Amino acid sequence: MSYNQIRLRFAPSPTGFLHLGGARTALFSWAFARHHNGSFLLRIEDTDLKRSTKEAVDSIIYGMKWLGLESDEPPIYQTSKMSRYKDILNNMLANGSAYYCYSSQEEIEAMREEAKQKGLKPKYSGLWRPEAGKTLPKIPENRQPTIRFKSPLHGTTSWKDIVKGEISIPNQELDDLIIARSDGSPTYNFCVAIDDWDMKISHVLRGDDHVSNTPKQINILKSIGAQLPEYGHLPMILGPDGEKLSKRHGAVNILEYKKLGYLPEAMINYLARLGWSHQNDEIFNSQELIKWFDFKHLSKSAAKWDNKKLNWINSYYIKNTNTSTLAKTIEKTIREKENYNNAATTNLENIIDLFKDRSETLVDLINSAMIFYSEPSNKLIKELTKEDILILKLFIQKIKNIDWTLTNIDIAIKEILEQNNLLMKQLLLPIRVSITGMSKTPAINKILLIMTKDEVIKRIQRVISS
Ligand code: GLU
Repeated sequence: MSYNQIRLRFAPSPTGFLHLGGARTALFSWAFARHHNGSFLLRIEDTDLKRSTKEAVDSIIYGMKWLGLESDEPPIYQTSKMSRYKDILNNMLANGSAYYCYSSQEEIEAMREEAKQKGLKPKYSGLWRPEAGKTLPKIPENRQPTIRFKSPLHGTTSWKDIVKGEISIPNQELDDLIIARSDGSPTYNFCVAIDDWDMKISHVLRGDDHVSNTPKQINILKSIGAQLPEYGHLPMILGPDGEKLSKRHGAVNILEYKKLGYLPEAMINYLARLGWSHQNDEIFNSQELIKWFDFKHLSKSAAKWDNKKLNWINSYYIKNTNTSTLAKTIEKTIREKENYNNAATTNLENIIDLFKDRSETLVDLINSAMIFYSEPSNKLIKELTKEDILILKLFIQKIKNIDWTLTNIDIAIKEILEQNNLLMKQLLLPIRVSITGMSKTPAINKILLIMTKDEVIKRIQRVISS
């Protein structure tokens, strides 16, 4: 029996920010839910009270919002479900699918050691597991019991993994896992299983570090008569060196990419291609992703992070986003820059039009815009020679009385070159350096035009008189 409604969840533990792997898991779950007009949900797995923080929850929710992966229902917090877990634990104790275990930590260590000595997997011996005809030991005084799940002893637990295909685990390898600690708090695998059931989750997508948890969760679900979701375990994302992607390789927090000037559309596009494909398409928007997304084209092998490709995709999205939207996105950051000079009257949209097809990130675009909104750096200006200054004077003389249009600027440049027998470089370098502080820029005539004549003259005069 399976669920007839498509419902997927993303279930982060809020012990840190939303990392790239998590974002991709969320994205695939979201895309599958959207493709089938189903629901995409968020569950905050915050039962580890010591390591879970409110900042992490906020950062995860904000990261998902930035990517456009919002939950269709209010998030479920595991800490709000304690009484529900208790009820189920009590039912399981009552019907014999769980039992109290009074073994101490040391005793359990000894059991595991003994199993190892016998060449078996380290395991709990089953000392407190009730069986027909078995007499249990005397309950020690002053010891709070844990609750263990009565895991099947024989047979196998199998599922057809959405990504990896058939997986079968011999039940002999499974421990009677602890489902509530001695302080009564429920444990991880138990909560996940109950929540997936309560939330009517039809498909669980998660990282393949969870493969070993799946048979435990399946057996718990079976023992309480719950429907099983389908499970899919995604191979991890590797860094360019083939090691698991981590901070060593660069930013792994999704919000770091926001700061670095990546567009959410580009992140979605790039993440979608990490372990999933649609023919040879590299560029697609989220509507196309939703239309095309399926489990058939999930890759079985690990994907490699490739910053160059991400930059290429990001520059594509910058180029193809309309200018006024880009202006709205970057304006505030520009105004908040320390060296922002609000005297500059240059129109931001004109600047963006000039630079948007040569910017890999919004940070590149902002840096280019800052040419116009800040004083040029003095470093190269100081290297200008006496001849350069003479040439700058000629230029000012020439432009003083012209109407500031691209054609007139071109004519002025051409006339100075001809009348003074100068090479292009001899004229343009000092101009470029004095108005931008840089030796390389895109088309100088366009920069001159959008900088406005007053500002150009002001900047060049300052260089001349310095
Ligand atoms: N909370 C788990 C994690 O952050 C995910 C559990 C799951 O998806 O089942 O790795």
